Amino acid sequence: MDRLIVTIDGPSGSGKSTLAKLLACRERFFYIDTGALYRSIAYLFSTQPTPEKLSKLSISWKKVNTEYHLFVFNRDMEPYIRGEEVGKDASIIAKLPFVRRFVNNMVRGSVKEGRYVVEGRDAGSVIFPEAQVKIYLQADLKERAMRRAKELHVEKDMILYKIKERDEKDITRKDSPLVIPEGAHVIDTTNKTQEEVYIQVISLLK
Ligand code: C5P
Repeated sequence: MDRLIVTIDGPSGSGKSTLAKLLACRERFFYIDTGALYRSIAYLFSTQPTPEKLSKLSISWKKVNTEYHLFVFNRDMEPYIRGEEVGKDASIIAKLPFVRRFVNNMVRGSVKEGRYVVEGRDAGSVIFPEAQVKIYLQADLKERAMRRAKELHVEKDMILYKIKERDEKDITRKDSPLVIPEGAHVIDTTNKTQEEVYIQVISLLK
């Protein structure tokens, strides 16, 4: 069996996870959410009095119902990592080259034969520049804030400010900033339904 890698990059709320989950569920792609790795590391750094060295962390991806969750030492991280505060912490530790090296090696090492969708900020530019299909999603800030507010059940204006702050950090950091990867298909999802985006991406796979 060959290896097919689809990368999805873009800012928060642009629709990356929704698209990746649809590919995982309908097309049976193995889904790697690199943001979940940064979030989990940030969560562990901030909650453990003496955090384990990164190299000692036992990390795995497991299928829970139709989704892939990140497990650290057999603990499902999903319930702890989705809030905007953890997102902010993630964007702070994501500046650190040793953290990025750890995540990149971990992700590259997880990809064997088969179909993979890898989501993040540098999936197509740094982790898998050789991916067969690279997608870059973007959307207006207001729309992205509305989506995140709905998802997290919080005020839109508050989340808009936080997303803007996180965008700024992700775009301006020295190591692997958020960019449109070379050869990526750019899709603006502002006025598109999830299904429309999905159909557009499926047409690129054929
Ligand atoms: O995608 P998500 O919102 O879960 O990512 C959380 C944060 O992790 C991002 O804002 C970014 O700072 C960092 N990240 C990154 N590189 C990736 C994925 C996420 O720097 N490939």
